[in-house]
Amino acid sequence: MICQSVPKFRDRLTDTIFKDMILNMKKEITAYNSVLELVGNTPIIKLNKVSEGLKGNFYAKVEAFNPGHSAKDRIALHIINSAEEKGILKPGATIVETTSGNTGFSLAMISIIKGYKCILAVSDKSSQDKIDMLKSMGAKVYVCPASVAADDPRSYYEVAKRVHEETPNSIYINQYFNELNIDAHYCSTGKEIWEQTDGLVTHVVVCSGTGGTISGIGRYLKEQNPTIKVLGVDAFGSVLKKYHETKEFDEKEIFPYKIEGLGKNLIPTATDFDIIDQYVKVTDKESAIMAREISRTEGLFVGYTSGAAFQAVKQYAEQGEFDENSNVVVIFPDHGSRYMSKIYSDEWMQEQGFLDIENIDESLKIEI
Ligand code: PMP
Repeated sequence: MICQSVPKFRDRLTDTIFKDMILNMKKEITAYNSVLELVGNTPIIKLNKVSEGLKGNFYAKVEAFNPGHSAKDRIALHIINSAEEKGILKPGATIVETTSGNTGFSLAMISIIKGYKCILAVSDKSSQDKIDMLKSMGAKVYVCPASVAADDPRSYYEVAKRVHEETPNSIYINQYFNELNIDAHYCSTGKEIWEQTDGLVTHVVVCSGTGGTISGIGRYLKEQNPTIKVLGVDAFGSVLKKYHETKEFDEKEIFPYKIEGLGKNLIPTATDFDIIDQYVKVTDKESAIMAREISRTEGLFVGYTSGAAFQAVKQYAEQGEFDENSNVVVIFPDHGSRYMSKIYSDEWMQEQGFLDIENIDESLKIEI
């Protein structure tokens, strides 16, 4: 039996004074009212290993720290809040969107908290993990073919439009053609990077899909310091880089590729091409291998486009874009858990010809 010794008189006296103090103090539980209060203010983290051998300092802004595990929480919340303020969103409304997964997850999460219904049209290129996650968050999901033209009635753009037209009291988020997509990143991500780096940022490297992230960040940063370089990342199989250089939509650029959320087969108005200094294109293979390397060496479990973004950093470095004084912020858009059946599956990597298991680095083999 454990006995407590009887406190001495002085101890009892301090005890009583202390108890009185506590009773007189107003106690409060420190808690967030909902996950929505945790959107934004993501950290920037120095990249120590993957940047070895490159001139400059490299920092990742890790968007997986958002409650919905991606940068898309920012635009989803901003667009829904704006619609509520304008009186467009009424109680019990339905939120409709085309999404490669991340925006859908953010919309579904916000719909739960705010009491809306959520219907999503998703490309069949999206990983099964992403589709299952959307359903787990209560969204209704239509899976549409990625291989058809944007104006084909089966495309996820057309399906979302139709659902919106046929559903009373619904709004269509339309992230590819919504200026609020840029605003969301202008007001939050861009401002955060400026403040977190104390204005010392010299370059940002950002993946371009809808273009909201790169345009919002670029616009804010260039207003503070016009010499900051805004460097884009595009995919082979996408039209964005060519359009940026020629202002022409070249259909010949389009072919299927694996990276989800990067590049596009149309020109989104949510991209402000004038803000972007340059694009590089990255391959499916190098981006996948890079994402795995970031996870293993930095302890940051990142998604496919984070690999694409750092692969682009390497290519920009090879072009001589950075020097010893460069402070480069690279956006890591989402979390690795969304790609377990793809880039983090050795089988999938082998099927794509991305991983040669015979010649795999000995240090990576697991002994049982
Ligand atoms: N990475 C991922 C995983 C995405 O889902 C997206 C969005 N399509 C992007 C990058 C690109 O961001 P943005 O749409 O703002 O250009």
